Amino acid sequence: MQRYYFDHNATSPLRAALRERLTSLLEQDFTNPGSIHQQGQAARTLVEQARRRILQSLRGATGTLTFTASATEANNIALLSLKKGDTLLTSKLEHPSVRDTAKRLEERGVKIEYLPHDAQGVLDLDALKKQAPNATLVALMAANNELGNINPIPEIAEICQEANVPLHVDAAQVWGRWPFHIAQGVTSVTLSAHKAGGPVGIGALWTDERERYPAIIFGGEQERGRRAGTENVLWIDLMGQLANHQDHWPDMGPLRDRLASAFEALGGARNGNPKQALPNTLNISFPGFEAEELVMALDLEGVSISTGSACTAGSVELSEVLKALPISEDRQASALRWSLGPSTSNQDVDQAVEIMQRVLARIRV
Ligand code: PLP
Repeated sequence: MQRYYFDHNATSPLRAALRERLTSLLEQDFTNPGSIHQQGQAARTLVEQARRRILQSLRGATGTLTFTASATEANNIALLSLKKGDTLLTSKLEHPSVRDTAKRLEERGVKIEYLPHDAQGVLDLDALKKQAPNATLVALMAANNELGNINPIPEIAEICQEANVPLHVDAAQVWGRWPFHIAQGVTSVTLSAHKAGGPVGIGALWTDERERYPAIIFGGEQERGRRAGTENVLWIDLMGQLANHQDHWPDMGPLRDRLASAFEALGGARNGNPKQALPNTLNISFPGFEAEELVMALDLEGVSISTGSACTAGSVELSEVLKALPISEDRQASALRWSLGPSTSNQDVDQAVEIMQRVLARIRV
């Protein structure tokens, strides 16, 4: 059966060029980048080349880049620098790797403050101006994985800089896909490879100052003592290949908009801020339907998408992000996330609309 993949915000399949690169790397003679012999140094060269390429793509090679096993780990490192008595200012719309880490910090005596947002998930920057001076760290994402909302990071960074407070930005849904240059005032950034067609299991944390965030994994001097454990050379090299601006994703906004219009004609209600959204993301509810039922019915017809909700231990829970929006429970429970990628074609969109129409008609009766 032909498959139609609309779940690139979960993972975008490995790019063809990276598959080729992986095959050629597997034939090369390199081992542990910590070893001083030739095979070790060959590995070290690959790691440092990748680091330089990524740094160059971010802010012209300034700052420090630490490779991690995931964007989740990078977000954890950035937040776990906070101590009892500190204040973290964040939002309820962040990825769980920020939201849940914040909850852990709260148990350790860190005060957590949430920035207000409107019904479309647009952050209140006047509130940020008031709240930032009291914060030890501000953590806000570059773009939302569920809604697709793009936050105005340059403006946010200016406010934080004026308040003299560090700003951590989770750019997992942006870097490697579209140009992402770190704005003045941003002090740390989380990157992911697999959202942009790189391998799953590699991420990175960029920081402006080497010592800003202490290590959370110990037992070796890798990554200059900031992240113990032998470096994942193959995956680091492949992540480095994503730094090339020429290979970025095309603008798929027109395709996404065509999908949105067709779904609205079928009774869909769009969630998030359509004026400032990732061009590949559409979050849309079909009130009266159960999102999970739709996802399963679509899967049987060859369409892969996600709900706006997370499945935990077999029970399906409403998405915390949608729950944080002042929209009806019916709308929260019927939200679907469609996320396009570079392989998505006009034909895929036509097929998805046709299948959706069929599925809605079948479930309705
Ligand atoms: N941050 C954002 C915005 C994400 O979308 C994701 C993944 O969905 C992550 C962090 C975590 O990525 P990973 O699961 O690769 O650690």
